[in-house]
Amino acid sequence: MAIDFTLSPELEAIRARVRDFIQHVVRPGEATIGDQAAIERRQYVKLLLQMRAEAKAAGLWLPHMPKEWGGMGLGHVALAMVQAEAAKASYGPWVLNCQAPDEGNMHTLLHWATDAQKEKYLRPLCEGRIMSCFAMTEPEVAGSDPTLIQTRAIRAGDDWIAHGHKWFISNARRASFAILIARTEDHPERPQAASTGFIVDLPSPGWTRVREIETMHGATGHSEIRIEGLHIPNDNVLGGRGQGHRLGQYRLGPARLAHCMRWISQAETALEMMVDRATQRFAHGSLLSEKQGIQWMIADSTMELYQCKLMVLHAAYKIDRGLDFTSEVSMTKHFVANALGRILDRAIQVHGALGYSTDTPLAHMFQHARWARFADGPDEVHQMRIAQRTIAAWRTHGSSRTATGDLPL
Ligand SMILES: Cc1cc2nc3c(=O)[nH]c(=O)nc-3n(C[C@H](O)[C@H](O)[C@H](O)COP(=O)(O)OP(=O)(O)OC[C@H]3O[C@@H](n4cnc5c(N)ncnc54)[C@H](O)[C@@H]3O)c2cc1C
Repeated sequence: MAIDFTLSPELEAIRARVRDFIQHVVRPGEATIGDQAAIERRQYVKLLLQMRAEAKAAGLWLPHMPKEWGGMGLGHVALAMVQAEAAKASYGPWVLNCQAPDEGNMHTLLHWATDAQKEKYLRPLCEGRIMSCFAMTEPEVAGSDPTLIQTRAIRAGDDWIAHGHKWFISNARRASFAILIARTEDHPERPQAASTGFIVDLPSPGWTRVREIETMHGATGHSEIRIEGLHIPNDNVLGGRGQGHRLGQYRLGPARLAHCMRWISQAETALEMMVDRATQRFAHGSLLSEKQGIQWMIADSTMELYQCKLMVLHAAYKIDRGLDFTSEVSMTKHFVANALGRILDRAIQVHGALGYSTDTPLAHMFQHARWARFADGPDEVHQMRIAQRTIAAWRTHGSSRTATGDLPL
């Protein structure tokens, strides 16, 4: 019997260590930081770096990277439980150096960069000495269809010269380099072969941060960028000419799943807060937890969280086995993003006015979670692809089975 959902004793020990570290190092650190505005910037940075140093010393650094890069060398199933534990605190993934977008960029560089590029960019990223960003989305064209990218790079001697416009580039203000996706091919064989990935050193003349975009959860480091006459050495082409789309899709597979791992943690926190409140709040002759209407909300959230966990574990298992995971990651990303929104909404409902206030983290979590349904592929695009795969499976095999996880059921 090969199906086994238990963790090995080694992995169980890692899980316990991450949980302990988050509880005893990161949470107290976060409590000290509190409102960033209330403490001096120098003190804030010192505290963050101190927590990172402790994570390194505790052997909880880079859970997603191989050991030769200073990481914990975990597979994706093991990573799921580390990410979920880490995301119990908002600084958790950053302290362990497995946060977006650096985490996705590390995977991308590991698989696509030349040895020289790895030494120059991946090494310091893994060591936590620098940060990075990923620049694909543009205001003028639909980000959900990267074949429409208009930012253009033209070969000029040993360099490329780029012009264009990007926005929602997370982490751009702190990044020492960007992975930039730009159009390079005029007559590609396929629309997906029109763009190329470049590594851009930051700051660089020709790369201008226009503004930090104010979002529904505040201005938290998503920049609008103007690219005007940006020189990029040919040595900084990443993964070869015309490979930009493939590189972006490759990056998004594991990165989407890593988001799901962290969202599960948020959903679990919301469910537990919902239950805690329901077992204490009294109205109309009984505790809220004794009312059927509230029990349905708890039950629906519990079932959805269970589905989220199973889907993440199965998609992670497929990545670890080297099996095609595209469909499973797509279904998982769609399901977890939507379940997170529903569970948070119910938790706010059960808390009443308290849930709407900023006295609990729920309101902030709800605002933050809204992006999950369209970033890294909007719901509708995932649904379109899922349906296409199901129809293709039916046409090819006369069965939907391969499109529904290819499970032995
Ligand atoms: C907080 C945040 C951080 C981000 N960080 C980054 C980053 O670091 N780097 C980066 O490059 N980008 C980043 N993005 C951008 C993100 O990747 C895009 O928002 C996403 O790809 C969608 O593109 P878009 O916003 O242009 O929406 P559009 O492509 O314009 O889509 C809008 C809507 O159209 C609908 N739609 C689209 N296609 C279809 C279809 N085929 N069928 C039916 N309906 C459809 C969907 O409802 C979709 O939500 C970030 C966004 C946010 C909000």
